[in-house]
Amino acid sequence: GLKICFVFRSPYISLLSFNNYQIFRIQVRKRPLNKKEFAKKEEDIIAIEPHSNALTVHETKLQRHNFFYAVLNEDVSNDEVYFEKVEPIVPLIFNRTKATCFAYGQTGSGKTYTMQPLPLKASQDILRLTLDTYRNQGFQLFVSFFEIYGGKLFDLLNDRKKLCMREDGKQQVCIVGLQEYRVSNVETVREFIEKGNSTRSTGTTGANEESSRSHAILQLCVKRSADGTETKPARLVGKLSFIDLAGSERGADTTDNDKQTRMEGAEINKSLLALKECIRALDSDQGHIPFRGSKLTEVLRDSFVGDSRTVMISCISPSSGSCEHTLNTLRYADRVKSLSKGGGSKRH
Ligand code: ADP
Repeated sequence: GLKICFVFRSPYISLLSFNNYQIFRIQVRKRPLNKKEFAKKEEDIIAIEPHSNALTVHETKLQRHNFFYAVLNEDVSNDEVYFEKVEPIVPLIFNRTKATCFAYGQTGSGKTYTMQPLPLKASQDILRLTLDTYRNQGFQLFVSFFEIYGGKLFDLLNDRKKLCMREDGKQQVCIVGLQEYRVSNVETVREFIEKGNSTRSTGTTGANEESSRSHAILQLCVKRSADGTETKPARLVGKLSFIDLAGSERGADTTDNDKQTRMEGAEINKSLLALKECIRALDSDQGHIPFRGSKLTEVLRDSFVGDSRTVMISCISPSSGSCEHTLNTLRYADRVKSLSKGGGSKRH
């Protein structure tokens, strides 16, 4: 077992002989109780057993639910999340790996808080690698940022321009018209992220309300020109996608009185189900992967085939008032995990 593990871990060998090997990892992150919850005298109903990956949700004094995951408690900083979950993947991007990091959970559970700093730190590391380990080898970093709302794609770095998709026959997904910006310093990446977030949150109901209805996808692409210099057009080498998913509770809005809300809810529900089905199909080596089940999975198609890494961070609120949503989030994670080989215990 140990030997096989070692072989799989080497990106060079896995490219040659295990072209379809997938690595999935599920991580639960609990946020602290906030002031509002304190004021409402809500209680922290999530108990985490240190060192044993066990988590208990105390629905009532007598009723509890046990789950087993690697859990990050409320003391864990964003830096630690990066060092543990993302940093180990970054060098693989230079060797054709496509990696995806999701934040899943109800609105207000900490998805954006978790997701926002990650691409910044990752691009800092990617740029550093282009200057030392891969110095003068023609690697370049590109940033793009778009959202999926109501089953349609919008460019967050280009005035929310509507985009469409095309397959190029080589299993690569091409989003026609998506603006990709070459970046050479972290400050520019930060500006793009801020620009995209403000475009995403433009709406009448405030940032959180609005943003929780779309999936936001920030991609860092490492490219290289054929001859290793910068004179020829650069081709994609590997990519790292950060996905702040729509609030999972929105998927239940399918009976709302408002037609628009119902449509949004149905789309979100469809895409979260399709995501789960794709991950399960990929991990159980089924021949048919139902990528076409939603726009989200169609867009991610090329990130799931070949040498890929996927981290799903399931964000949960600790408060008694969110119990039902928290249980839904943990059950979703369980269903994604239950069919994986080794599931949540896999390590990068
Ligand atoms: P979501 O994106 O899931 O709707 P947010 O990321 O906006 O949720 O988080 C909701 C609020 O909780 C924000 O004010 C955020 O700063 C805070 N928060 C979330 N996670 C944490 C955490 N781990 N530590 C401290 N504050 C957090």
